[in-house]
Amino acid sequence: MVVGEVAVETDVIVIGGGPGGYAAAIRLGQLGKSVVLIEKEELGGVCLNKGCIPSKALIHAAGEFHKLPRIAKMGIRLPLEEATFHMPEWQKWKSSLIAQLNKGVHYLCEASGVTVVRGTATFLSSDRIGVETGGDFETFKFENAIVASGSRPFVPGFLERDGTYILDSTDILQMEEVPDSLAIIGGGYIGMEMGMAFSKLGTKVTVIEAADRVLPQIAVHHAQEVQKEAKKLGMVLKTSTKVETATVTENGQVELCVYSEKQGEERFVHDKVLVTIGRIPNTDAIGLAQAKVIVDERGYIPVDQSCRTNQAHIFAIGDVTPGTALAHRAAKQGVVAAEVIAGLSSANDSTLIPYVIFTEPQVAGVGLTKEEAMQQGYNIKSATFPYGANGRALATDEGNGFAEVIVDAESHLLLGMHIVGSDASNLIGEGVLALEMAARAEDLSMTMHPHPTLSEVWMEAAASVLGHAIHVVNKK
Ligand code: FAD
Repeated sequence: MVVGEVAVETDVIVIGGGPGGYAAAIRLGQLGKSVVLIEKEELGGVCLNKGCIPSKALIHAAGEFHKLPRIAKMGIRLPLEEATFHMPEWQKWKSSLIAQLNKGVHYLCEASGVTVVRGTATFLSSDRIGVETGGDFETFKFENAIVASGSRPFVPGFLERDGTYILDSTDILQMEEVPDSLAIIGGGYIGMEMGMAFSKLGTKVTVIEAADRVLPQIAVHHAQEVQKEAKKLGMVLKTSTKVETATVTENGQVELCVYSEKQGEERFVHDKVLVTIGRIPNTDAIGLAQAKVIVDERGYIPVDQSCRTNQAHIFAIGDVTPGTALAHRAAKQGVVAAEVIAGLSSANDSTLIPYVIFTEPQVAGVGLTKEEAMQQGYNIKSATFPYGANGRALATDEGNGFAEVIVDAESHLLLGMHIVGSDASNLIGEGVLALEMAARAEDLSMTMHPHPTLSEVWMEAAASVLGHAIHVVNKK
């Protein structure tokens, strides 16, 4: 980096230190580029500070708490009636995890020669960025830039988020108390994950979803498993229902007025309302017009397989680009953009983006669902293998769930692998690798899987599609 009269010069500027931005910066450092990473809040972005990590820490704690009554049958006796969940303690634990991970990201950036600048970045032109650093203003001149400024929760104006009664996903993860009742507007993955966690902690949860089912992004028969568990937990799921108004009452609750064709207008009161109906990209306040970078009508930055924008030297990655807003997609794009900038042959050319939903049961998948495969003209075969026939699942009291494989009927090429049940989030890794390697059902079924483990469900599901599973009776 050379200090000039007007601007600090660097090979690459990265705007945003989330999982996309910091992965890009570290890879650029590894490849010998001078790189300045600008972050206005905390390294790790939404994922580490307000999203993936804190939400999974809450889901885990709520799951452990909710499991307590189940351990009596395993011979563990506790005064269960004395078990309580203490939210302020959880907050402390959560903050310590975040601090540890945040420190790790700082260390990795430093070790890779990345200069981290705390401030708010704005493009001044197509080769300059200005950074507001709490009173001071610094200018950087770059050869390449990567926009990784992420996204923020979308809360429509009429819901008037106040952070106390009407909350977004960031607010709810900072609460110091478990609310008695919670209405969640939006039954997508964040809404259902949060709803189930609070339900397990004893909150009366109502989910309001405009579509005709919750988790509308995943296959119907997978979503149904979550829906069944939600009902067992006592959650109320109001589908095909729209919220019309939300009013904070004098006694500090929120009255929602909702409408559905079936029920007409209904009103109910909850202590808190969480709005999880989508996110919007942070592309409106970073001066993209000065850099002549085009955004689409929804504010996303279109990119090609190299993550290049319409300006060949400016790249965009993660939640600011069209597509699924997931941390692993952002990180992959970050590495690709960095490698392309460093002159390597790299591309984000795979359509395989796994998804994981940390509900009860967990749901995860990669590749096509049965419906998608048929719509794409494949002649398919599919099979499921139940957790109930897997020894490890039963030995850990997790017998609810199944693994599903979908293959091309003739070649047995794996087209999709989906899993509903305990630890689906970890088990889907095998599916991603299998599909990336263009594996066939035979590859999975002939691979020795360790016993007793949940991973055997893949081997058995693949064998089942070929008609020779051992632990279920095969269809003739
Ligand atoms: P972000 O993580 O949004 O980071 C962008 C960074 O840019 C931020 O730190 C921001 O402060 C900074 N920034 C913005 N503007 C500027 C500026 N002008 N100057 C300087 N800095 C700026 N994904 C998963 O894959 N799995 C999950 O389980 C999961 N769970 C989630 C749970 C919740 C509750 C939420 C909200 C999200 C979850 N996500 C999950 C989504 C995931 O967090 C995002 O997809 C991911 O963080 C996107 O990464 P990113 O690098 O594109 O941007």
